[in-house]
Amino acid sequence: MKKVKKATKQEIEIIKKEFLTRYNQAVSELTYTNLYELLVAVMLSAQCTDKRVNIITPALFQKYPDTKTLAQANIEDVKELIKSCSFFNNKATNLLKMAQSVEENFEGQIPLDEAKLVSLAGVGQKTAHVVMIEYAGANLMAVDTHVFRVAHRLGLSDAKTAIATEDDLTKKFKTDLHVLHQAMVLFGRYICKSKNPDCNGECFLRDFCKSKEGFKAN
Ligand code: SF4
Repeated sequence: MKKVKKATKQEIEIIKKEFLTRYNQAVSELTYTNLYELLVAVMLSAQCTDKRVNIITPALFQKYPDTKTLAQANIEDVKELIKSCSFFNNKATNLLKMAQSVEENFEGQIPLDEAKLVSLAGVGQKTAHVVMIEYAGANLMAVDTHVFRVAHRLGLSDAKTAIATEDDLTKKFKTDLHVLHQAMVLFGRYICKSKNPDCNGECFLRDFCKSKEGFKAN
């Protein structure tokens, strides 16, 4: 089997600098006004586009503006409000359980703490990290489909899983992980796309690309 080329230390430094310079002000494309709305939006965004989530959440937040109201919600009503989102049955169940747990165990305040966040229904490490990155600027990495693809194409990781890729990126980049996370999401979403990446146009990392997509463009 052909071995994937790895980025050198020098390449990693340049890639990091490029991302930090170009995406310094980048923020999540999810619409939210507080920690509750951010957590709900991130939970809904699993296997669903941010665009779709932003269409769903205004009506959901109007009817259920906090964990107190969501904890007492009728599950069929929540399903109806989020039904255009993938896995809406599971997501509705988790949203209610999450809200009930926040009310019962955290006095109605969503905890900004990884161990406490992952104790909530439907909140895994990736969701917890995205919330902490976005809301608190925490020095954490989270690997979604875009970050995974970009990391592999640039030779920053050859790991098979998102968690192992997160570990590679954390060790290689070390600092400014919250900016780098947003940068890799946006770079993957708009430039280094899954199909038809913009290798010959907007890509500013072509010299460091290790993937056949980049080679094809040369
Ligand atoms: Fe992605 Fe193409 Fe750039 Fe490689 S050259 S990083 S595949 S956009």
